[in-house]
Amino acid sequence: MADSIWSPSSWKTRPVAQIVNYPDQQHLRRVLSKINTLPPLVTPAEIERLRFQLAAVQRNEAFLLHAGDCAESFDACTQQNISAKIGLILSFSLILIWGGRLPVVRIGRIAGQYAKPRSSGTERIGGREVPSFRGDNVNGLDPNDRTPDPERLLSAYFHSTATLNYVRGLLTSGFASLHHPRDWSLSHVRSPSLRSEFEKITQGLSDALDFSHTIGADSGRENIPFERGGGRGVLGEVDFYTSHEGLMLDWEQAMTREFKNDVASSGLSPQQSSFYNTSAHFLWVGDRTRQLDGAHIEYFRGIRNPIGIKVGPSLGNDELINLLEIVNPNKESGRVTLITRYGAGKVRDHLAGHIEAVKRSGHPVAWVCDPMHGNTLTSGGGLKTRNFGTIISELTSCISIHAACGSRLGGVSLEFTGELNDEGFSVTECLGGSMELSEEQLGLRYQSFCDPRLNFEQSLDVAFLISNHFKE
Ligand code: PEP
Ligand code: MN
Repeated sequence: MADSIWSPSSWKTRPVAQIVNYPDQQHLRRVLSKINTLPPLVTPAEIERLRFQLAAVQRNEAFLLHAGDCAESFDACTQQNISAKIGLILSFSLILIWGGRLPVVRIGRIAGQYAKPRSSGTERIGGREVPSFRGDNVNGLDPNDRTPDPERLLSAYFHSTATLNYVRGLLTSGFASLHHPRDWSLSHVRSPSLRSEFEKITQGLSDALDFSHTIGADSGRENIPFERGGGRGVLGEVDFYTSHEGLMLDWEQAMTREFKNDVASSGLSPQQSSFYNTSAHFLWVGDRTRQLDGAHIEYFRGIRNPIGIKVGPSLGNDELINLLEIVNPNKESGRVTLITRYGAGKVRDHLAGHIEAVKRSGHPVAWVCDPMHGNTLTSGGGLKTRNFGTIISELTSCISIHAACGSRLGGVSLEFTGELNDEGFSVTECLGGSMELSEEQLGLRYQSFCDPRLNFEQSLDVAFLISNHFKE
């Protein structure tokens, strides 16, 4: 199969999981050809730089933080939400860098994470069965607005652009400066122990920066050791990359562009060209759409971007290796990240087998733990939630299973949010954590329209846990 000719549209010859049926195909084609003419959101040089840094993750020289909302919504594309998300990602990565003394590669689930895979085509709302909500780029959350509308793809392009523009602006204007980490909105954190732990780090960091400055050893960058070439980060003072699930293949195809190889950034032959998905630096294929002979894997195998593959309990060892052979036949480093998401109760049954199989195959991969998607449950009050303890349990199991197999966990993939309400309170979507969120408190500020996210405090709890593990 992998020998057949690839093109940005060759996926159309395969069965498409999670297909969206647009009633007006002509309208869809018009919108897609418009999108195809719009400028790229990200560039090949940025994408190559991420591949290079993910190769460092594979060699255990860096740690990957992949995080953000389950799904973005058009309404949540606001200054406050975006800066809160970036602030949380920066705070989280700072804690990791401090504890691990390792560079952190930051990839946000941001600037295009709109589409959602659904387990059922319909859902029951207010006593009636309606088509499922598939994400803001497909249909509306309002049960009366569930017909797929192609205009939403165009709207997704512009919301992604606005988001990315603001992120680039923030990161080139000193927001990420390690000299002012308190700007990342820690003011609302009420837990005195969390605050004081974070302040210890920022104080230590500030002393270290002063010291390096005094002896002339500062470069103004915190991740020099693993970059290709010199200069500033991809989005300013620190490196930051965007990602989304590559679910809507019509969209992905329209954003795929062919570029002549730039030898300096890719190390590829200058005679050839490559196809880049220019809507995000990193794309992942979901656990529901990674069929070996399916459309998604066909699309993914042809793009140059680094990709993630969600690995759940239903994926067999041999099937995993077959997948790797298709998407990375030349075993290139930096290309594949495996994002495991078994569930705390299942990780022990599957992870070691997957690690051993990959080892035997000789495929270079980064292993990342997603402790969220195998651990979703419904609360007594009917809300979708996750238990902090279960999330930590899958994460710590992953760390120890990797160690027992002579492997190493290279990163985490989380659904979290720094969002605050008008009174400065965090969301209440996951149970537990140092704030001991109870089932009765879930309804207080439950804002996700998709999967439940860790709030600011719960996320820092996870960051300290990983950071302390590094120190051991
Ligand atoms: C997700 O990451 O939002 C997701 C749907 O994950 P998975 O494909 O692992 O279920
Ligand atoms: Mn999710």
